[in-house]
Amino acid sequence: WRGGYHFFSPAINALNKDRLLLGAALREAIAAETLNLVFQPQIEWETGGLYGVEALARWSHPEYGPIAPDRFIPVAEQIGAIEALGAWALRTASAQLAQWRRDGHVIPAMSVNISAQHFRDAGFAQLVADVLAENALKPADLTIEITESLMLEETATVVGNIEALAEMGVTLSMDDFGTGYSSLSLIARLPVKELKVDRAFIDRLESDASAQAVATAVICIGQSLNMSVVAEGVETLGQRRFLEALGCHAQQGYFYSRPMAAADFEDWILNYSG
Ligand code: C2E
Ligand code: CA
Ligand code: CA
Ligand code: CA
Repeated sequence: WRGGYHFFSPAINALNKDRLLLGAALREAIAAETLNLVFQPQIEWETGGLYGVEALARWSHPEYGPIAPDRFIPVAEQIGAIEALGAWALRTASAQLAQWRRDGHVIPAMSVNISAQHFRDAGFAQLVADVLAENALKPADLTIEITESLMLEETATVVGNIEALAEMGVTLSMDDFGTGYSSLSLIARLPVKELKVDRAFIDRLESDASAQAVATAVICIGQSLNMSVVAEGVETLGQRRFLEALGCHAQQGYFYSRPMAAADFEDWILNYSG
């Protein structure tokens, strides 16, 4: 009414409605397992061989088409579906790794992205143990990528999950390293074995001296803490060479390959010669 307050503009109404519909559709897709995983190789610097594979979720909405994970992962977190999504990703990626090994492919490890929220679930480490057992995989076959925000959350449940996984022998990897607020003492204290240098620094390697300095420093930190350092988002030969000169352990990015559907990954690995 005139002079009154319009708390909801039509645009915001549409957005909220859209989000509700999106959430409902996502919940359904997770339950029906109509999401997909794509796989991106990680290349080891010293040998040129395969260091590992990262599994990334994909979702195509029946009406809206493909929706980026940067959009649907936060929705899954908001509607409390991220645990189901994480369990599905762990199971599907592990089953795929086991299948590829039965087919004779040499794949040292599979990386799965897990939301910080899932670490608040007291049963998370047990879920991982169950999935490994179901697929006859060893803990070292699995890498779990977590973001820095988790590291700041030192609650008993979160720390309990981190420690249980590390004791089991699952590799923990800190994703998007350099973008958050993690203190160095925390990284040194927690049982994290791998650092992933955020794409933002790799992007600007050839043009920006401060990005070079950060990338160099991050790689040195990882090396001096005996961690593996993986650079993500490597797109050019110049970036590759820069990282090689620093002795960065492994690289991942469009320069080597985009994330691929399972069948395409099988073609890729057959043709890849390091
Ligand atoms: P992330 O874990 O940092 O994954 C790297 C992202 O960079 C992926 O985007 C990948 O496709 C993209 N990428 C790889 N190489 C290059 C490159 O050379 N250039 C550029 N420009 N991009 C590259 P994607 O697949 O869209 O995923 C975005 C984010 O969504 C991921 O970032 C991750 O945080 C999240 N995500 C994806 N799948 C899952 C999942 O199964 N579970 C959870 N919790 N999060 C996921
Ligand atoms: Ca990741
Ligand atoms: Ca990342
Ligand atoms: Ca990211």
